[in-house]
Amino acid sequence: MNETPHDIPSETGRVHDTVIIGGGQAGLAIAYHLAQQHRDLVILDAHERVGDAWRLRWDSLRLFTPAKFDGLPGLPFPGDRLGFPTKDEQADYLEAYAVHFGLPVRTGVHVDRVHRVDDRFVVEAGARRWEAENVVLATGGYRVPRVPEFADRLAASVRQLHSSDYRNPAQLRPGPVLVVGMGNSGAEIALDVSGSHATTIAGTPTGELPVRHGRAAARFVLPVVRFAGLHVITLGTPIGRRVLPKLAGRGAPLIRTKRSDLEAAGVARVGRVVDVRDGMPVTDDGSAHDVSNVIWCTGYRDDTAWVDLPAFDDDGTMRQRRGVVDAVPGLYVIGREFMYAIASATLPGATRDAAHLARRMRARRTASSTASTSTFAAAKSS
Ligand code: FAD
Repeated sequence: MNETPHDIPSETGRVHDTVIIGGGQAGLAIAYHLAQQHRDLVILDAHERVGDAWRLRWDSLRLFTPAKFDGLPGLPFPGDRLGFPTKDEQADYLEAYAVHFGLPVRTGVHVDRVHRVDDRFVVEAGARRWEAENVVLATGGYRVPRVPEFADRLAASVRQLHSSDYRNPAQLRPGPVLVVGMGNSGAEIALDVSGSHATTIAGTPTGELPVRHGRAAARFVLPVVRFAGLHVITLGTPIGRRVLPKLAGRGAPLIRTKRSDLEAAGVARVGRVVDVRDGMPVTDDGSAHDVSNVIWCTGYRDDTAWVDLPAFDDDGTMRQRRGVVDAVPGLYVIGREFMYAIASATLPGATRDAAHLARRMRARRTASSTASTSTFAAAKSS
């Protein structure tokens, strides 16, 4: 790792003001604001098309946030404001958004290293590289599937997949399905498969929305939830500082699905899956479950090994304050779970956090240009 910035020519032959890594909603929202500041930007995204993070989720998925909360800055989500877009409609909206504002997204670019050389960042994707004065990490929190270690002891006859690979029941083998994890993904996928397979769900939900999700909730209840998620449960309030650290790693309350929906669909409930015995999953009461399919709805883990910068605590937590990484001037982050508010990794949260971050970036640029003007003036007068 001894290269200088000039060992390989940079992809564009210049030092950009900002490289944004990740062109999902969070990357596009910050790109919009930075473009308004007339910055020289490039957005790098591993997927083939803008919106693919949504497009590649399971077929029946709809957003739980109504359209009125799903737009990014400057371009409202089209159509019925109280409706809940399909995941493909959301993906297409993001793709159209990038085109509408002429945001310079380079797709099919998987960044595998970002580091500093002298006073600039070097962003590498295989043999390709970009240079920039600033880098924004917008790679999303739902990237690397987390499955328990004992998963690889499941019998070969059991079809197992993570929720990120689940699309529809046609992927499954005939026979019973065990869905592991009772967060929103687990509950919705259990309902999805229950029409064609005997289905059991393992785990305990952390609660559920106290009203029925739908148009009336979109009008009266979800605005309150959104307000609390953006302004109350945040690191800027005493209650938020108390609650947020305890929520990390726990599933969110069920939003669209209710426990009664699962019961009505004939989905059986069992405790936590804790082991595998004779190739079959075992729950915390010691029973083994003879199933043909296991769908792990057990969440994701962070992957920041490719960020070769002193931006992390010993436990791997990124040291950031509302997206600004003080220890590495010029490094920013957006769209991470709980980075400021409980809603930070959702559409409304990323949109709000992006506006704040753009203001901080503008203030830093103004401060450094004022400092260099004064240095220049002082040098001239001496
Ligand atoms: P992503 O959408 O994951 O985008 C990150 C982008 O970064 C990707 O395109 C990826 O290709 C790229 N990337 C990652 N690593 C690299 C790399 N090393 N190099 C280059 N590119 C890279 N939120 C809501 O507000 N409403 C909802 O209804 C809702 N439903 C959800 C349903 C599910 C099943 C899930 C998992 C999440 C849901 N969310 C919802 C939460 C959140 O809005 C989404 O996860 C959203 O996709 C996050 O956007 P993002 O831009 O932060 O990350």
